[in-house]
Amino acid sequence: MTTHRERLDALVGEWRADLAAADDAVRVLRESRGDGGIDDEHDPEGSTLSLDWSRAVAIVEMVTANLADAEAALARLDDGTYGICRSCGRAIPEGRLEARPTSDLCVECSAGVAPRR
Ligand SMILES: [Zn+2]
Repeated sequence: MTTHRERLDALVGEWRADLAAADDAVRVLRESRGDGGIDDEHDPEGSTLSLDWSRAVAIVEMVTANLADAEAALARLDDGTYGICRSCGRAIPEGRLEARPTSDLCVECSAGVAPRR
């Protein structure tokens, strides 16, 4: 049985690797764009490149947000507020923490604050 900290540490490690890979992709794309040899209007490669670019940037943004959530969750473990709903102050059920280790809202508050449908 793994602890919340172990699970969060594993997620942070995974996401840091994802972020490094996505950062690399952005850098490579920027370099291939920046050499002045590409004309987005006429180069058939141009649109593919833009697609890769927006995808890579979206991944960087998503992983950065995930990492911030995981680091906030680790900080809550340190100060003893992990697993407590930040809205109503009740305990977040273990099953929810297992499904979403970075969660800081209980099911009810999460449903109320951010309705899914
Ligand atoms: Zn709550």
